[in-house]
Amino acid sequence: MLAACSSSHTVRPAAPAPEASPPPSAGRRPIGPTPAHVGPRDDRVSTDDLEALWQRQLMVPVEGIPRGALRDNFTAKRAGGIHGAIDILAPKYTAVVASDDLVIGRLFSGPVGGIVVYASDPEQRFVYYYAHLERYRKGLTVGDRVAKGSVIGYVGTTGNAPPDTPHLHFQVMKRAVGRAWWDGPAINPFSFFALDALRP
Ligand SMILES: [Zn+2]
Repeated sequence: MLAACSSSHTVRPAAPAPEASPPPSAGRRPIGPTPAHVGPRDDRVSTDDLEALWQRQLMVPVEGIPRGALRDNFTAKRAGGIHGAIDILAPKYTAVVASDDLVIGRLFSGPVGGIVVYASDPEQRFVYYYAHLERYRKGLTVGDRVAKGSVIGYVGTTGNAPPDTPHLHFQVMKRAVGRAWWDGPAINPFSFFALDALRP
């Protein structure tokens, strides 16, 4: 199923450098030795991708926030483009839960996203990005498999989040081809949530 949507979507640059052209069958190879941001990029999100994302039955990734309370600010203007994510406001230390069955792929801390998690779905088709966490769940490690609805961290204001507006910045991307896997095209998750993470 993964291979079915790869080869026909390969984007070839107008004037590719010889070494930048992969063999025709290399559409979905792992990033591996290819340097990040080098090589052909494929930023197209197909209806097949969107159908697959719907099949994931995503859970709202903040405990106690029902789907009906979400606001869609995916297209809000930001420096250099659009927001490309949705912000979910909640009190600091509210549990952030796995929106899907996850494989934790990258834990990082920086001045923009603050304390962040990058994770993939089990088929590694999509990437989920959780930013501005106050902290991780104790012991969270790259390579962990986390069940949908399990706590991965806590809402906070790290990075460039306003100190008085704790929130989760939640982004969904198609896994990138030809560059860092966590840097793929964003998909608006707003209409893809099927489950709430309500307190029992
Ligand atoms: Zn945001």
